[in-house]
Amino acid sequence: MTPENKPTSSDRFTQTIARLGTSKTDRPQSHRIQEIRNLTDTAFILRFDKNTFRFTAGQHMTLQLPGNNQMREYSIYSAPDAPYLEVLIQEVEKGYLSKKLHRVKPGDQVLIDGPFGFFSLDEDYATKKYLFVATGTGIAPFHSIALGHPGLDYKIVHGIRYGAEAYERNAYPANRYVACASRDHEGDFQGRVTDYLSRNEIDSNTFVYLCGNCDMIYEVYDLLTSRGIDADKIRTEVYF
Ligand SMILES: Cc1cc2nc3c(=O)[nH]c(=O)nc-3n(C[C@H](O)[C@H](O)[C@H](O)COP(=O)(O)OP(=O)(O)OC[C@H]3O[C@@H](n4cnc5c(N)ncnc54)[C@H](O)[C@@H]3O)c2cc1C
Repeated sequence: MTPENKPTSSDRFTQTIARLGTSKTDRPQSHRIQEIRNLTDTAFILRFDKNTFRFTAGQHMTLQLPGNNQMREYSIYSAPDAPYLEVLIQEVEKGYLSKKLHRVKPGDQVLIDGPFGFFSLDEDYATKKYLFVATGTGIAPFHSIALGHPGLDYKIVHGIRYGAEAYERNAYPANRYVACASRDHEGDFQGRVTDYLSRNEIDSNTFVYLCGNCDMIYEVYDLLTSRGIDADKIRTEVYF
């Protein structure tokens, strides 16, 4: 990946501009928390009332607490046709909003704006083959995409530190999900996603979506292009 086409934090700026450029005026909207599902000590799922919110699998939204002007982006974890909205959040050490969101209770209200972004499948998705590469909570848009497109030809390669971070892996058929655990032996593969991808064939017709931290995205992007995957077939969503 060259410096000119690397995804950077300006992606977030672009997303913010895209948000400001929209015409909806009654935003953000208040949504009631239905439940909190703790997956590990620091990762959790918030489920909200959906109200009139509609989105395409792969998009994200912003969350904000009432009376607080700090907002952050979160990919939508639930499928578009689910009767609720869900996000998968990792509480970040010294992070401002993720810590506060981990302390909300059922019945609390959260302000939601969106949907935003273009990290979705093309209309002809049924004729394509997909590789989804995620680190940590970067699995969230792929969960929504997988549940929202039954019959999709995809494989998820999920980079985690420990096997316990293979969040809700039973949502995917066993042959479509590979947990790459870098710090224990509880994953399907011991090592990083780049190690896994280096050792496995990737069909050059595959469409690849990368989501998570930018270091992984840079490395995997370079690896894929050096293996003959056309840059036009790679899409990225940078979290931080
Ligand atoms: C399009 C988009 C979608 C996103 N979707 C999700 C999602 O589905 N789930 C999710 O948990 N986060 C997601 N994020 C990240 C999220 O927006 C926040 O940045 C994150 O929750 C930290 O916010 P904070 O206020 O707690 O930390 P802050 O106080 O804003 O930041 C503290 C520091 O933590 C770093 N940081 C941010 N995220 C992480 C992380 N996951 N691990 C380690 N360090 C981090 C930041 O770079 C910063 O240096 C997404 C970001 C973007 C741009």
